[in-house]
Parts: sequence; structure tokens; C-alpha cells
Amino acid sequence: TYDYVIVGAGNAGLVIANRLTENPATTVLVLEAGISDQNQIPVMAPFLGPSVTPDTPYDWNYTVVAQPGLDNRTYPYPRGRLLGGSSSANYMIHQYGTNEDWNRVAAVSSDQGWSWNNMKQYIKRHEKIVPPSDGHNTTDQLIPSLHSFTGELQISLPIGNQTTDPFVIATTSQLKEFPYNEDTSGINNNLLGIGWAQSSMDDGLRASSSSSYLASANSRPNLTVMINAMVIKLLSTGSTNGLKAFRNVQFADARTKTVTPAFQVQARKEVILSAGSVGTPQILQLSGIGAPADLAPLHIPVLINSPQVGRNMQDHPLLPNIFTVSGNGSLDDTLRNASAVGAAISQWASSKTGFIANNVINQLGFARLNSTLLKGFTDPAAGPTSPHYEMIFANFWLDPVVTVPATGNFFTILTALLTPTSRGSVKIHSTNPFVAPLIDPNMLATDFDIHTITESVKAIKRFAAAPAWSNYITGAFGTLNGTTDAQLAAHARLHTSTVFHPTSTASMTATSKSPSSGVVNSDLTVKGAAGLRIVDLSVLPFIPSCHPQGPAYMLAERAADLIKASA
Ligand code: FAD
Repeated sequence: TYDYVIVGAGNAGLVIANRLTENPATTVLVLEAGISDQNQIPVMAPFLGPSVTPDTPYDWNYTVVAQPGLDNRTYPYPRGRLLGGSSSANYMIHQYGTNEDWNRVAAVSSDQGWSWNNMKQYIKRHEKIVPPSDGHNTTDQLIPSLHSFTGELQISLPIGNQTTDPFVIATTSQLKEFPYNEDTSGINNNLLGIGWAQSSMDDGLRASSSSSYLASANSRPNLTVMINAMVIKLLSTGSTNGLKAFRNVQFADARTKTVTPAFQVQARKEVILSAGSVGTPQILQLSGIGAPADLAPLHIPVLINSPQVGRNMQDHPLLPNIFTVSGNGSLDDTLRNASAVGAAISQWASSKTGFIANNVINQLGFARLNSTLLKGFTDPAAGPTSPHYEMIFANFWLDPVVTVPATGNFFTILTALLTPTSRGSVKIHSTNPFVAPLIDPNMLATDFDIHTITESVKAIKRFAAAPAWSNYITGAFGTLNGTTDAQLAAHARLHTSTVFHPTSTASMTATSKSPSSGVVNSDLTVKGAAGLRIVDLSVLPFIPSCHPQGPAYMLAERAADLIKASA
């Protein structure tokens, strides 16, 4: 037995594993279904991030159910299945959300501990800003006085110059609608505007929860991490203070893809579910914690009637908007040329330089709908200074679903809807944990969502019409050529997929509230259960208006404090 058993060595799980084992008397076992991340070139090389998923050994290789809001299309739904979880498989953009995002979590959970004023301390503990490996002057690209240089996870600005960098930055002084933001992390209480991307990387290498939090705790004798360990379900272990306890975890060898033989391990204190927004509700449902209507068809006895398990799912819809460009300054020709890519990878392998050492994104930006465009809608943003949509700039064809044409040079402005009002679900349809659950992000299902993503397309067309682009952008590609709202909405439904940010499938409500309102209390303990806590993005009641790995780290840092305080 161990004091704590953590399910999932992912983004959040490894933060908990590190913090709990700071005390040499505390023993921790982490069970991870996936493989090791060690010496895996696609995982380590920043520019190869988009090749880590989908349809690889590093990915759960999920697919979403047909999406009515997207012309009934389906698309791949990547989740990291290796040490570091999705932090080892993601695109490494690093942010913390807005102060209003966190203050809304505090309001919904009636717990001021989740407010921005309290959560800021966890950024300090978490981040370690490092210089970009090309050593360029970063003045005005990030506000150093607000950041920490002593935490666990390395964060840095982009290296190297993309053809489009000066055009993006020049547009921020040419068009008032798109101001420059000198720190895109959110740490300056201002996400609005366009600026330089901060990424979880250091010296040409990805930084993940595995390369940081796990690496610095790995030699502790009180920490055990087991890979290829597929958790089947949690087993009820009597009761504590009148609540059903779940301190036993059943798991199998993931490589066999069968549940026999099944192994069991007991936690003396707590089981911590950190299996992510898909894995966590799946394990809860397999364990009899869920909505009776979901469990009955599978004959799973209801141990805790918790109707919100797997409900309330949110995700950020992502829409690639592609422009054709003049000349060959985009990366497309290089990326189409296998020997050029091979040479770049060799250069990276020997010196950690060249474009492979950089992230795929150098700039990003955030914007709100104005009051005219919000008319008739209740504003779903966390507050009046939180963005509704995002713009992501890529110096090549970047569409996670549609591959690049055989010829041509492109510039992509991806837009993402940050405040979706659609809610989806994760539901098991088999008692076999190796059968993927039904994943339904329910993209673009509401009038607000389609309206806002359509407005985001109009906004980036205004952006691309700035004088800065006059000698570069030659036209819109494909359905981006539409001009009416109806044509641009059709463009959105045809091309939208995901930024890979599912949240809220085991969402948090005030501790005084029953399981009919949400799955976990404000201290992340599961409502109606003892010995069981959830620490991953599934607990957030609302999706934050940013890339969420930063919030996952912050959440886990505070959760570690809560767990230590209750021990
Ligand atoms: P995860 O990190 O997914 O951890 C869950 C862990 O549990 C995994 O290791 C999984 O294998 C394990 N697990 C699940 N089920 C079981 C089981 N039954 N038994 C044992 N183990 C199990 N965010 C950003 O901020 N910036 C980005 O640029 C960005 N890009 C992304 C790109 C991609 C392709 C993806 C997939 C995600 C991206 N994200 C990005 C999102 C971000 O990485 C995730 O939201 C975040 O890492 C989730 O953290 P988590 O701890 O909730 O879950």
C-alpha cells in the first residue's frame, strides 16, 4: 500500500506526485496507462509537436462522435498517452488565463482560494522563465518583473525569425482594433491584444510535467511511477464518516489490452484521479459513480448517484483560416521536402538549433466582441476584460485536420472560440476500459458560438487587409473567400475542429451543494465519496479563456497544498 495512489502521470498528476513526495515520509504510486516519454524525438523537438498526435503510439487516438454543429463531421481527438500526459503531446503554448477566469471559479465554488489573488502565488512556484536559445533581446516581448525565474517548468519566447513576424507586429501599430500586448500569459491582467507566444520549452527542447516536475522528483525513494498500467476502475472500500470510500484501484497491463490479469493497489489516505477530461469521467462511470441513466444500460451498479459525471464538457473550437502568399518565405516548401526536414532534424539533434528547435507558433492574440456584436446575447465571458476569441499566426499551412496541398505557400490565422456556450459529454458505452468512451464536445451548437466564430473570421480578414500584408498575402484560400455571414458560418462549420482543450467533465461546485450540481467539492474531493479526489482539468466549472496547460499546473499546485493540509 501507498499513502496516495495517483491515476494518470499527466500534466496535473505529476505536479501532485512531485509536491506530495517532498515529504520523505509520504509514499506515492502513480499509475500511467501510456508509455515513457524518454528519448522520443517527436516529443522532445518543439517544432515536431504537431506530429506527436493524432494516430500515434503517444496518443489515445480518440475520435469525436458526429458533430451536428459541424455538418455532422467527426475528427480525431488527441490526448497524450505517455509520461507527462497531454503536456508531452501538446503545442506548448503557455498561459495562465485571466484574473476573471479564476475569480469565476472562486465564485462558482464559494472558495476564495481559487481567486486570482490567491492563485498568483502558484504561478511563482510553477514557472521558470528561461532565455530563448538564440539569445535575442526580449525587451517588450514579456514583462520580466511579473514572472518567476525559479519554479519547475521552463518557459521561453520563440527563437529565430519567421518571414511573417514583422508583418504581425506591424499590424498591431497599423490597426487600432489589434493592439500590441507585451505579455500574452495573462499575468499582467490583460489578455487582449497580440503579442509573442510564451512556450513550455528550454534550449530547443520541450518542457513537460515529466521533464520538469517528474525529473526533479524521480530519484526520491518514496515515489513510484508505473507505466503501461491501465486503470480499470476504483473499488469501494467500506465507508468513512458515512461516505462510501474508494481507496482501492484496479489496473491491468495496458499492453495486453485485456483486463485480466487485474491487479489491485490500496491507498492509505487517498486515491487521486488525474486521468484528464476524458479518462477521469470514464473511470468514475466504470466505478459506479455517475448518472444512473448512463450506468443502467451497462448493468453497472450505482454506488454514487452523481448525475453531472461526464456532463458539462467544454472545449475551444479551432478554425484554420488560410491565406495564399507570394514568394517562398513560408515554411511550406521546406515542410514538403522530406530531405530538408531530415536535415533540419539532424541539425536540431546535434546542436538544438534551426526551426525544429522552435515552436510552430510565434505570435498569438486575443479579442472581444464589441457591445454591438454582443447585442441579444448574455455575455458568456468570465468578465468584461476577458476575450471571446483568439487568433494564432502560423507561417505555413496549419490545419490539424486537412493536409497541405502539393504546391503553394500559405499563411494561417487560426481562430479559436474561447467562450463556447455549447456543452458536450463523455459517456462510456462498454464496461471494458479499453473501449473508448463516446466523446461529444458538441461544437458550435448554439447561436452565440456560430456568431462569434463567424465574427472572428471577419476580424482576421480585417487583420490581413492591413498595409503590413500588402506585398505578402495574395488572397484567401477556399471557403475563406466567402463574404456573407452565411458563407463564413458555412466555412466555420466545414473546417472547425478542436484546440484540444476539453474541460469540466467532473466539474466543481460549492462544497455545500449536492452531487446533482457538480462532481467535486471546492477542495476537489468527490461529492458523496471518501478517500477520492480529482485533480485535472475536468474539475474546472468553465473552460478558461486561454490555452489551459498553465491553469492545469496552477490547479494542481493548489490541489497539492489542499491535500497536504487535509492529511
Ligand atoms: P492529461 O495531461 O491528459 O493527463 C491525463 C493522464 O492520465 C494521461 O497521461 C493519460 O495517459 C492518463 N490516463 C488516462 N486514463 C487512464 C487510465 N485509465 N489509466 C491510467 N492512466 C490513464 N494546452 C496548452 O496550454 N497549450 C497548447 O499549446 C496545447 N496544445 C495542445 C495540443 C494537443 C495535441 C493536445 C492533446 C492538447 C493541447 N493542449 C494545450 C491542452 C493541454 O495539454 C491539456 O489541456 C492539459 O495538458 C490537460 O492536463 P490534464 O492533467 O487534465 O490531463
